[in-house]
Amino acid sequence: MKLLIMGAPGAGKGTQATALAERYGVPAISTGDIFRFNIRNQTPLGVKVKEMIDAGEYVPDDMTEAIVGDRLAEPDCEPGFLLDGFPRTMHQVFFLDRYLAERGKKLDAVVSLHVEPEVLVERLLARAEEQGRADDNADTIRRRMEVYAGQTAPLLFHYESKGLLVDLEGTGTVDEVRQRMFDQLDEHIAQR
Ligand code: ADP
Repeated sequence: MKLLIMGAPGAGKGTQATALAERYGVPAISTGDIFRFNIRNQTPLGVKVKEMIDAGEYVPDDMTEAIVGDRLAEPDCEPGFLLDGFPRTMHQVFFLDRYLAERGKKLDAVVSLHVEPEVLVERLLARAEEQGRADDNADTIRRRMEVYAGQTAPLLFHYESKGLLVDLEGTGTVDEVRQRMFDQLDEHIAQR
């Protein structure tokens, strides 16, 4: 299974990505987690990206693509993978399309998690209290929403036109969303 999960900040991508990866026995690869790990450990990459991420801006495509390319080349990605938070720009979409095509691989589905903007902001502010992520403050949240709407939301049209999109309503409890996601994916796979 080769899957992507997309959604605005706060949509619950990370939570559902874990469930999805477990279900199909594939690694969940979160570019956000990779960057945060590098920031925490003050690696050269972490030092470079900290300010951008704290400001709610995207990391440059070349850096992000290099990381994803390296990660996908690991043996555990051979049977499949789930990318969470990548691609986020059209440049990254083309990178991934080419990367997979060169290896004779194809995506199976792209899960798009939809949540109303007001709910997103509430969730992110709650997460700020719980986890203290540096990019979960009111100003940065607003910026991340704008960047998502401008750069990432349009990518859904690309995947829709390829017949890969699974449109998922992300409101409800974690369990409800997970069950809905599994049901819709099963239906998507059965219809191919
Ligand atoms: P969220 O769910 O809040 O969007 P993520 O953990 O997915 O958070 O990402 C956190 C931050 O990491 C993003 O706001 C961005 O700065 C950076 N980032 C993650 N993935 C990418 C990517 N594919 N391209 C560029 N920047 C990225």
